[in-house]
Amino acid sequence: NVSVVLFTSDLRLHDHPPLRAALDAAREVVPLFVRDRAVDGAGFAVPNRLAFLADCLRDLDAGLRERGGRLVVRSGDVVEEVCRVACETAAGEVHLSADVSGYAQRREERLRRTLAAQGVRLHVHEAVTTAVAPGTVTPAASDHFAVFTPYFRHWSRQRLRDALGAPRTVRVPDGVGSAGLPSHRGVSVGLASGGETEGRRRLSAWLRGGIADYADRHDDLAGDATSRLSPHLHFGTLSPVELVHRARATGGPGAEAFVRQLAWRDFHRQVLAARPDAAYADYRTRHDRWRTEDTAREEVEAWREGRTGYPVVDAAMRQLRHEGWMHNRGRLLTASFLAKTLYIDWRVGARHFLQLLVDGDVANNQLNWQWVAGTGTDTRPNRVLNPVAQAKRYDPDGAYVRRWVPELAGIEGPVVHEPWKLRGRDRAAVGYPEPVVDLSVGLGRFRRARGLG
Ligand code: FAD
Repeated sequence: NVSVVLFTSDLRLHDHPPLRAALDAAREVVPLFVRDRAVDGAGFAVPNRLAFLADCLRDLDAGLRERGGRLVVRSGDVVEEVCRVACETAAGEVHLSADVSGYAQRREERLRRTLAAQGVRLHVHEAVTTAVAPGTVTPAASDHFAVFTPYFRHWSRQRLRDALGAPRTVRVPDGVGSAGLPSHRGVSVGLASGGETEGRRRLSAWLRGGIADYADRHDDLAGDATSRLSPHLHFGTLSPVELVHRARATGGPGAEAFVRQLAWRDFHRQVLAARPDAAYADYRTRHDRWRTEDTAREEVEAWREGRTGYPVVDAAMRQLRHEGWMHNRGRLLTASFLAKTLYIDWRVGARHFLQLLVDGDVANNQLNWQWVAGTGTDTRPNRVLNPVAQAKRYDPDGAYVRRWVPELAGIEGPVVHEPWKLRGRDRAAVGYPEPVVDLSVGLGRFRRARGLG
């Protein structure tokens, strides 16, 4: 007998409950990945993530081959392909990880219906792409938490399942046709490599060397002292359950602060699972009459290209383009700059991030954007981050700005964060743009728009 495992955002062999269940249930297993036409069609398949995905699939295939199996790759409509494979192999069951987006929920529903008509059972496994499954902890009067602190209190008390090891052998039935493994190039030259092997290597290095200082250093822009595990969590080459266990085992304030960030990831997922429309529609309507790409074209372009004239904003936007990744502090202050200081629709910024981020993720990206824009779950929706104050606090020596904005590399001292204060010839010599907006003008516009006087 045969079972099918559909790999989606869980491209790993360690701690993979659907794979374990499929191996327990059947003598032979088809590990299947479908390059889904609908995901391509939605514009979500962008070069940086496709390149990372190609690494993940290659590594998954290699891991399966070491165990006597292989990865079966198909492309087309995901439901049709799964049903086709189940039919070709006379499989009795299909195993899948639960996921949160509206798209994933519709996929699961269609799969359930179509497979049932074929007499095949669909098993959906929870807590594979999250540490705590959405809906496990809820407040008294709602199906999800809208505020992080009480969510985190409940989340922390949950007993997580044990993490599973990787299987020793995987036997795949003969003759199942597979397309070749895809190969892609990203658009960012400094893009990280993907795959479970690389993810586990990074995780071990992080637990040995980085996590201890995380509480003190995670906001240090130039120090780059965060885990950079986000693309591995997005593609599921690392398991959130395993990460929480292993971080907790190292102990200390760094591990505690890191686990809290993993809870933020689950938090946004439980919001999106309950409110799939929050990927695009305001979670809380504030009656904003945003400026748009049409009405603020030049400012949008300056922001995207990292030439707003605010060095820390430009540094972060250029890091995004170069690496396909941006430091969390950079994401916060560039998003606040677009949505609040320029008062441009957060969706314009979220779309640009999703074009480039290797960890670009519907739940984390859209809901963090909403959090910053004050349309989301933030308890301080009208806070505006001042990019100069942020720069002085989180890049006190200016090293981050000098690294990413070469025009300013030769500027010594704190004036690197305020190059408009340079005098005459010095100012002209740096060849760096004037600010696109005066901060007090931006702040006034925002406060008026939100009716704050
Ligand atoms: P670490 O600091 O090492 O944190 C560990 C993990 O915790 C991360 O890998 C991530 O999975 C999770 N995490 C950390 N911060 C957050 C957070 N605020 N919300 C949810 N989860 C978090 N993260 C994404 O994974 N994909 C996105 O598309 C994304 N877009 C964002 C957009 C904006 C405007 C903002 C403000 C944040 C966004 N984040 C996103 C959250 C956060 O910035 C990144 O997860 C983090 O910078 C990734 O780097 P790291 O792995 O070194 O993080």
